Amino acid sequence: MTECSACGDCCDPVWYPWGPADVRQLAERLVDSPDLPFITEHWRATGEQRNGMHAYECDFFDAESRLCTAHDLRPPICRGYPWYSHEPGSRLVVLPLQCAFRADYPPGTVVPTGEEEPQPVA
Ligand code: SF4
Ligand code: SF4
Repeated sequence: MTECSACGDCCDPVWYPWGPADVRQLAERLVDSPDLPFITEHWRATGEQRNGMHAYECDFFDAESRLCTAHDLRPPICRGYPWYSHEPGSRLVVLPLQCAFRADYPPGTVVPTGEEEPQPVA
């Protein structure tokens, strides 16, 4: 089974489909979502957008160690990444180019990277 290599690339930046205005609106409406209050409080939009995704910096990402400093506080969106209880490789999710979990897809599968154009698995 693939293990996270702790490269930190999925948090630097975090790519998310909703922009900051949408996040704020959704957080107001979906008050029982554990992700949105956390995102509103701790993620800062960089203004960068690629392939329909918005880039965020997270307060808890340590750029030096490239590790999350809020392991116990992480919301479900962080805890479940990348497969969220689905079979590894069974759904297309954004995986940075260096992400170890790209190995869960069959070779040649074109996988979104967030920052770059979607790239096939070697
Ligand atoms: S809480 Fe941790 S895992 Fe989640 S985005 Fe921030 S640094 Fe990454
Ligand atoms: S990009 Fe992939 S391998 Fe790197 S820290 Fe995130 S989940 Fe782990």
